[in-house]
Amino acid sequence: MQQTYENVFSAFVDICKSVEPKKQTEERLKTTETNITFPLFDAPPVAFGTTKGGSWDNALITIANTLSSETNKRRTFYVDDKIAIVYDPYAKAKMHLLCIYRSNIDNPTQLKTEHVELLKHAHTIAKQVAAHLRVDMMIGYHAIPSMRRLHFHIISRDLVSDCIKNKKHYNSFATDFFLPCDKVLTELESKGKVTIDKTKYENLLKNDLKCHRCKSSQKNIPKLKEHLEQCNK
Ligand code: AMP
Repeated sequence: MQQTYENVFSAFVDICKSVEPKKQTEERLKTTETNITFPLFDAPPVAFGTTKGGSWDNALITIANTLSSETNKRRTFYVDDKIAIVYDPYAKAKMHLLCIYRSNIDNPTQLKTEHVELLKHAHTIAKQVAAHLRVDMMIGYHAIPSMRRLHFHIISRDLVSDCIKNKKHYNSFATDFFLPCDKVLTELESKGKVTIDKTKYENLLKNDLKCHRCKSSQKNIPKLKEHLEQCNK
């Protein structure tokens, strides 16, 4: 009799374990802070449908102008009338999204006081996305973006990716070249503009490789990657 009870109890525990992941998945679909329902993070394969045609640095403008195409729907994580958050096709970390503004602003130096509310909106949504993903994320702008159309990165702090191929890729996220979104907004609010010292920021990309977590020097990208496997734990 006791054996039967034990068997029934053990089967019950197994059932509970098997439903647990599903319950968590459903919970992850809702953020607690707003009514927005975000999807699970489900990045398309690397370089899925990267925008072709026209100049390469216009790819984000093309995406913003063709959000309803089937390819762009597949790579869109969130969209509203002001911003589109898309999977970065060359993710520089385990999770990497780009928030692209839909208004015709090229880069941070074009920002004016009239854009403060727009930035607040975008940053708020981005922070909610980061909270929803439940992973340590960094949210910020590249001081000197390579792509036209104002955008910022929502990227997990691991910085582990096959797409990090050189010092410039890594330093663009691991140094002050990466401008936290709150810093950009504060400067815009206080000064009415965002000023970028080009030489200073270009030099940061040439910095020697240093782990962004423990600041230890790293000889080269393969060594850095090996180190990050441990340091990220
Ligand atoms: P940045 O301009 O430096 O702030 O970053 C531009 C981002 O756009 C990078 O993270 C790239 O991986 C990403 N990117 C590059 N080419 C494309 C493309 N064709 N479509 C979408 N994103 C791209």
